[in-house]
Amino acid sequence: MFDITSIRADFPILQREVNGKPLVYLDNAATSQKPQQVIDAIVDYYSRYNANIHRGVHTLSQEATDAYEIARKTIQEHFNIAHPYEVIFTAGTTHGINLVANGFASFLKKGDEVIVSALEHHSNIVPWQMLCEKTGAVLKVIPMTQEGTLAMDAYSGLLSEKTKLVFVNHISNALGTINPIEKIIELAHQVGAAVLVDGAQACSHIKPDLTALDVDFYVTSAHKMCGPTGVGMLYGKEEWLKKLPPYQGGGEMISEVTFEKTTYADLPHKFEAGTPNICGGIAFGAAIEYLNHLGFDAIAAHEHTLLEYATNELLAIDGLKIYGTGREKTSVISFNVENIHPYDIGTILDKLGIAVRTGHHCAQPIMEFYKIPGTVRASFAFYNTKEEVDQLVAGVKRAQQMLS
Ligand SMILES: *Cc1c(COP(=O)(O)O)cnc(C)c1O
Repeated sequence: MFDITSIRADFPILQREVNGKPLVYLDNAATSQKPQQVIDAIVDYYSRYNANIHRGVHTLSQEATDAYEIARKTIQEHFNIAHPYEVIFTAGTTHGINLVANGFASFLKKGDEVIVSALEHHSNIVPWQMLCEKTGAVLKVIPMTQEGTLAMDAYSGLLSEKTKLVFVNHISNALGTINPIEKIIELAHQVGAAVLVDGAQACSHIKPDLTALDVDFYVTSAHKMCGPTGVGMLYGKEEWLKKLPPYQGGGEMISEVTFEKTTYADLPHKFEAGTPNICGGIAFGAAIEYLNHLGFDAIAAHEHTLLEYATNELLAIDGLKIYGTGREKTSVISFNVENIHPYDIGTILDKLGIAVRTGHHCAQPIMEFYKIPGTVRASFAFYNTKEEVDQLVAGVKRAQQMLS
């Protein structure tokens, strides 16, 4: 069914050693590893048909343009998006959020309200704070619970006619909580507010149907879903993308330029100024094909097994506490061991070849809520194994012995 040995063989980096030990890579929430199929797409592009796109009449330019636009269609189909021109290539999630926040400056006035959640990554907080400073709009926060879920009753109470925009992540990168975005979107629409969902952490685990969700904007990064860094997607409903002003000016995004007036290109080019990350876009398409070949149901089932197993094994360690215990969560485990700094655990695990993340995970408000400096975060992908969970657990026990 899910042939983990052959899947792991697709990832050259998983064969390497770190500090004399086989690499155990459990930092997938920060970035995923890349299969040979994606690496090949990158090498193939630069070896055979590297050229600038959209303007050239020559063969290489046409081949590159075709491959780039096929990747856009792959993304469109994967996310069940109505039109290819509603897929905007970006440099990643952070870029996509800034693009929308910047555009909303033209729509907001003093006293308008925008709503963020307490579970956000800094990249889904700071651009909106900048927007509020510019426009005089007020930032409201959906509070979180001890379990690391959103307080949905409080959310309902925050919504009003003043609410113009709600932005939440689909899955929290710090805790793994899956947020009830269907409900969040439905309630926001009832008061006429638009919704942006940060899908950076979600798209390696699940396959969102953006038409069914009826979301206004959805952003993600290729590098968290087996694609390269520096490329991502912004989905926007056509009506919104038409209204939203361009973010950056330059080549590719214009229809006609004179010194008196410039008219902008049609979608999606209006938002794609300059030479894009052509190779990245093509490789993003290859990554999506790779994931779909495995199948998201199989990926979710395997990751769920790892999550349950790792949760039980870790909780058996004396003094270990897990943050983020909601019922709906993905394979991210944030934890601390009593009286030990997360950084020290991370350092010892690295000596054993085990890669985890330590710190605030770009989500300082969550750490503030729990009154902790940070956590150790082990995040599992479909290519991780139960044996690797065992190594993690043994490593944490060893760190505990050494440090207490
Ligand atoms: C990783 C991540 C981001 C930032 O993505 P970039 O690729 O660094 O732009 C934002 N939000 C969440 C939930 C993330 O996991």
